[in-house]
Amino acid sequence: MITLPAKLQAVLARIADAARLYGRDQADVRLLAVSKTWPAAALREVAAAGQRAFGESYVQEAVGKISELRTLGLEWHFIGALQANKTRLVAESFDWVHSVDQLRIAQRLSEQRPSLLPPLSVCLQVNVSGEASKSGVSPAAAPALAAAVAVLPGLCLRGLMAIPAATDEFGEQRRAFRCLRELSERLRADGLLLDTLSMGMSHDLEAAIAEGATLVRVGTAIFGERR
Ligand SMILES: *Cc1c(COP(=O)(O)O)cnc(C)c1O
Repeated sequence: MITLPAKLQAVLARIADAARLYGRDQADVRLLAVSKTWPAAALREVAAAGQRAFGESYVQEAVGKISELRTLGLEWHFIGALQANKTRLVAESFDWVHSVDQLRIAQRLSEQRPSLLPPLSVCLQVNVSGEASKSGVSPAAAPALAAAVAVLPGLCLRGLMAIPAATDEFGEQRRAFRCLRELSERLRADGLLLDTLSMGMSHDLEAAIAEGATLVRVGTAIFGERR
């Protein structure tokens, strides 16, 4: 059996190789370990191997792990669909939210962010593939949403996130990620201070790094197939 620390190292090596191949600085690509469905003990093992940032998709499950692992000083990223009735827990427990796609949700997160904590870092989730079933703001509506979110006092708008339609074809993977990068460049030209492109998962992190990802969200390649 391959241990969790060994799989973590293998993913870090993939990131380093892709960064070298595509002329990126390895230090500019962070790894988010996506730990949804895995027990706190598994996260503890990965944290002991040096991983600091963890991504979770289910609020109730996550707050249990956050509380259990609070002495480790980890950084928690919420990456799942966010309902209005869960925003308070997220605003109180997490450091980042990657899945903001409605102003109403952003406003609640901002109001509910405890004043003793730093502003909540957020990314707007953008539906780059135009799939009707996917969440995310459309690229056309993203600039107005970004401008509105950027002025909310409890939030710090950090960048954009996407989950493109799954494909094994590298060129297609790159095209979807390029769409997110170009949108981010447009928002920066409009004056927004964005430093994050959250894109790339276990099967397409190389394409994402080629197109400028600053944070890749990897679950299966570290923890195994979700149960
Ligand atoms: C589950 C999940 C991931 C991780 O996907 P893997 O294919 O397991 O690496 C990344 N991003 C989001 C938003 C997810 O929900």
